[in-house]
Amino acid sequence: MTILLNDPIFHDDSAARKHLEAIRWPDGPFCPHCGETTQITRLEGRSHRSGLLQCNGCREHFTVTVGTVMERSHIALHKWVAAFHLMNSSKKGVSAHQLHRMLGITYKSAWFMAHRVREAMTRTPNAPVGNTGNPLEMDETYIGRDPSKKKGTGGHHKLKVVSVVGQFEIRRS
Ligand SMILES: [Zn+2]
Repeated sequence: MTILLNDPIFHDDSAARKHLEAIRWPDGPFCPHCGETTQITRLEGRSHRSGLLQCNGCREHFTVTVGTVMERSHIALHKWVAAFHLMNSSKKGVSAHQLHRMLGITYKSAWFMAHRVREAMTRTPNAPVGNTGNPLEMDETYIGRDPSKKKGTGGHHKLKVVSVVGQFEIRRS
């Protein structure tokens, strides 16, 4: 398994936070407590923990991890980002022991993270299918022509091939 872990999001906590904020808040931050989108202030300076925002609608404080499996974790965000990446990019899955060694965290923390990452992956709208609890990777490719479709409708006359890579347990009776 070759993984490009050179990206700062895997090494630097603030780069990881920016990465997560860009994913979660593509149109700017919103308050997870009341849904406010415009009256949000970023609290900066040493007296505030990093990534803290304040909603001027309900006066609550929040960060990008509120409401996610990373909420209230003491594990650095770049290690979370790395764990998500490792667990999503490995077809064979990554064990808590591997995370423990690769991320330099305790086995207990690694076990907790692995559990939470799997939970997050099964929660997503495109929930993985399969019966082992491991994620499947899906990919769409257009090849050739689909004889059932009319010509001249752009890409629609091509055959769509969806490949699925993942783990299934085959039960024999
Ligand atoms: Zn609010």
